[in-house]
Amino acid sequence: MKRQTIKSLLADYKKVLHHDITVQGWVRAFRSNRFIALNDGSTINNLQVVVDFESFDEETIKNIKTASSLKIVGEVVESQGAGQNIEIIAKKIEILGDNFSEDLEKTVLQPKKHSLEVLRDQAHLRFRTNLFSAVFRIRHAISFAIHKFFNDGEFFYIHTPLITGADAEGAGEMFSVTGFDLNEVPRTEDGSVDYESDFFGKKTSLTVSGQLNVETAMMGLGRVYTFGPTFRAENSNTTRHLAEFWMVEPEVAFNDLEDNIDLAEDFLKFVISYVLENCKDDLEFLDKRFAEEQKQKPEKDRAKEGLIEKLENVVKKRFMRVSYSEAIEILMNSKENKKGKFQFPVEAWGCDLQSEHERYLVEKHFESPVVLFDYPAEIKAFYMKLNEDGKTVRAMDVLFPGIGEIIGGSQREEKLSVLKAKMEKMKVDEHELWWYLDTRKFGSVPHSGFGLGLERLVLFITGMTNIRDVIPFPRTPKTAEF
Ligand code: ATP
Ligand code: MN
Repeated sequence: MKRQTIKSLLADYKKVLHHDITVQGWVRAFRSNRFIALNDGSTINNLQVVVDFESFDEETIKNIKTASSLKIVGEVVESQGAGQNIEIIAKKIEILGDNFSEDLEKTVLQPKKHSLEVLRDQAHLRFRTNLFSAVFRIRHAISFAIHKFFNDGEFFYIHTPLITGADAEGAGEMFSVTGFDLNEVPRTEDGSVDYESDFFGKKTSLTVSGQLNVETAMMGLGRVYTFGPTFRAENSNTTRHLAEFWMVEPEVAFNDLEDNIDLAEDFLKFVISYVLENCKDDLEFLDKRFAEEQKQKPEKDRAKEGLIEKLENVVKKRFMRVSYSEAIEILMNSKENKKGKFQFPVEAWGCDLQSEHERYLVEKHFESPVVLFDYPAEIKAFYMKLNEDGKTVRAMDVLFPGIGEIIGGSQREEKLSVLKAKMEKMKVDEHELWWYLDTRKFGSVPHSGFGLGLERLVLFITGMTNIRDVIPFPRTPKTAEF
């Protein structure tokens, strides 16, 4: 007898109607000692199994509890009840593993509402809830759609290293990687750490971005992307920052800033459309949850659109494209700024934008995703292309409602002399990045790329609000359990 997933069974049950089949899964609920809601993770929908207790011994019935793992053989019949097309009339039930009831009572597997905080403390069990299984199925679909978008667009997937020897990649604070016993760190005569005797013979760190490496691949393969874990040692305990997160970074030869913005917009719309088309059941579940959440909020803080509606609108609308200078004007003249409502007042051209400013632009002023471009050179990384005005760079950030920055990117500086001058000014060691500079020496070309934080996109699509709830095992300051 062939076993199939509950998803494929529910989608295509006509062939097996009135036949015996085998299904395996976990008990989500067991009602009236008669109806088992069985789930195997393939879909948010449960399969109803009808247990006629006269056909089974008492012991078996007693051992069917929430979370029990079962193998069931039974006949597929049309369902009498509302809410499902079919059900299984159980003929054989095998309990596959134990359930330790006392321990079970302390877990989030208990069928009642648990707070997201409690679920986070049991991150190893939360996959077994409706909410988190939906989130992680969607995270999978997003990842798949990302690869599909690039593969269809003739990009090549490059695996860039996680351990880097570059001290400053221009994107943030780094974690050190060492083979030293930290109690006995070898030192040179002048008392500083003797990195030469360390594992790699030099100071190494976990990468903050794969960009510099992927740029070298771009010089040979044209259109490339990297998609992997990145690390930031910033102590920013926010709902949008992780110490370990996944970043998607395309890099395209011959693309200028406008091409880059077009690519980012097409890319985001493709991935969102893919999820809208392929994750309907999970999205509908999350849409309902989102609506419930809004009801708990004071009227003025409620979202104007439902979750699915929001996603559909993002796909439909063209993103607003606004220069940094225009954005600063808007922010300086805003009521919020004048009344001192921003935590960080916007005082002059040149200041870095905080998330509250980004969200004001997106949620209040434009009511649309916004792409800001041409930022002051001082607040952006050394590799961004300097504009003719000599004070702004060809940077672009894509800002999303509820999230703020979801993508950061730029056209890169392709002129060796300008790049070197920038590195000197920003104290980036030229010798350490000698290999990167070679991209500008031999057939240098205009090129552009960006970085998308995968989790920020998962947040946006699922309507979750804390980034810790869209990555299986979050790494944040003071937490690295599991
Ligand atoms: P932010 O200003 O939000 O801290 P950033 O400017 O430091 O972000 P970039 O270096 O431009 O970020 O990284 C590219 C993208 O990676 C960002 O647009 C964002 O989506 C994501 N990202 C950056 N830092 C984090 C983080 N700590 N956790 C999760 N995602 C992040
Ligand atoms: Mn950025």
